[in-house]
Amino acid sequence: MKQFVLRMASNLSKEAYNILQRTSLDSLYCAKLKLRSPLNILMRDNIVKRNTCLVGDALHPMTPDIGQGGCSASEDSVVLARCIAETFSIKLPTGMLEKLEDEFYNRIKVGLEKYAKERRWRIFNLIVLHIWLVWHKKVMGR
Ligand SMILES: Cc1cc2nc3c(=O)[nH]c(=O)nc-3n(C[C@H](O)[C@H](O)[C@H](O)COP(=O)(O)OP(=O)(O)OC[C@H]3O[C@@H](n4cnc5c(N)ncnc54)[C@H](O)[C@@H]3O)c2cc1C
Repeated sequence: MKQFVLRMASNLSKEAYNILQRTSLDSLYCAKLKLRSPLNILMRDNIVKRNTCLVGDALHPMTPDIGQGGCSASEDSVVLARCIAETFSIKLPTGMLEKLEDEFYNRIKVGLEKYAKERRWRIFNLIVLHIWLVWHKKVMGR
């Protein structure tokens, strides 16, 4: 595999080529390419479960060639941070101290639900666009 990659990378800059050359095979992690159907995102409540949520490739796996996975993961993170911050910006009612843990749990849950609501259509559009791009590249042969 290394020989194959080095052959394909012969046109890269010397620095990039050196990185590939110095990378040992046991430092690589292989994962199967996955597809999440856009309908799966719209029809099922599967972005958030209780106090956990999906972000990045786990939410919208894409092929690396379109250079969008990292950008979309950053977008998820910004929206997630905003949604959580908004729920925590509401002042705690007096007399709530003994129920602090429940209150935090509920706020996180509310924040995550808001995140799922805000991201659902965006993720749907991203996945549809990705499928179209892959199909277009295949048909056009580039
Ligand atoms: C060759 C290539 C080129 C790319 N080019 C671009 C580009 O130009 N622009 C762009 O926007 N995107 C690009 N991407 C996509 C981008 O890298 C990914 O979409 C992005 O890294 C996804 O971030 P993530 O945090 O969701 O997942 P990851 O970055 O994959 O992070 C997941 C982390 O979880 C860890 N992990 C896995 N399983 C476990 C476990 N059981 N327990 C603990 N930890 C675990 C992994 O080790 C990893 O560190 C490219 C991808 C590839 C492969």
